[in-house]
Amino acid sequence: VPLPEKALIEEVRRFARSRSTGNVRLGIGDDCAIIGIPPRHEALVTTDFSLEGVHFRRQWHPPESVGHRCLARGLSDIAAMGGTPIAAFLSLALPARLPQSWVDRFIKGLLSLAKRYSVALAGGDTAQSPAGVLADIIVMGSVPKGTAVIRSGARPGNAIYVTGALGGSAATLNLLRTKRKVVPSETDRHFYPRPRLEVGRYLREKHIATAMIDLSDGLSTDLAHICDESSVGAEVEMPRLPLASAGKPPTSVSVDLALHGGEDYELLFTAPAKTRVPSVISGVPITRIGTITKVRGLFTRDASRRTPLLVRGWEHFRRT
Ligand SMILES: [Mg+2]
Repeated sequence: VPLPEKALIEEVRRFARSRSTGNVRLGIGDDCAIIGIPPRHEALVTTDFSLEGVHFRRQWHPPESVGHRCLARGLSDIAAMGGTPIAAFLSLALPARLPQSWVDRFIKGLLSLAKRYSVALAGGDTAQSPAGVLADIIVMGSVPKGTAVIRSGARPGNAIYVTGALGGSAATLNLLRTKRKVVPSETDRHFYPRPRLEVGRYLREKHIATAMIDLSDGLSTDLAHICDESSVGAEVEMPRLPLASAGKPPTSVSVDLALHGGEDYELLFTAPAKTRVPSVISGVPITRIGTITKVRGLFTRDASRRTPLLVRGWEHFRRT
């Protein structure tokens, strides 16, 4: 039997400890939370579903990982604007027969990531779900007025960069699909993605990024979003792609996974060709992978060969 709402709130409150911290003037327990925005800042708000069977499977993902990933998706969106997260709001629908220990471990995973970035869980709702765990999270953050890095700022000639390595999360998902035993290690970005908040903030503060997005749906899809919003095209230089390594012993993932695999939660950004971009920011490698073009459309370049890049949307588990 799932905890009634009041008991769950007590549980979250016990984990979350204090009711008011930093910009959260009033957290869980009243009709609304009261959130302060720092002077001369504006609010960033993002919302994401985590649905059992679509975004995670209980047989594959430990509850801590589901909670972590649930919040990481929202934090990654805040990172992609160059913002700082303040508070999260969680709405949970739980099946009647879900063990209480699953909920406890889910909340534990979520709150441990929240604590790392000083994000308060400031409210939410619970209900009984007719089928599967449904979690909806809202993350609120802030950014100095008028400085958020949006998707529409890429200009022809801009260089294209990514943080970290690509395709690792999809590679782990492939292992899970083939029913091979996968140990959900803390360092595996599929189970425990690290939102690139420090990098996003740095790129905004130093006026480096002209456009930015987080890689949730895969490089081809997310690069297409930047190009659509900016009315430009792009050319990706294949030999430059930073391929993640996965498996035991670790081997480089395929170029296909790096181009189309989702849920890496790295950042993709553009910068003027003459701007000096550090090769490492906050310990995260930064790699130049291509160039924004005036001609619309996405292409890959390998030596002298130029090939249209097909945009293949990431559909989580729907392909199985
Ligand atoms: Mg996003």
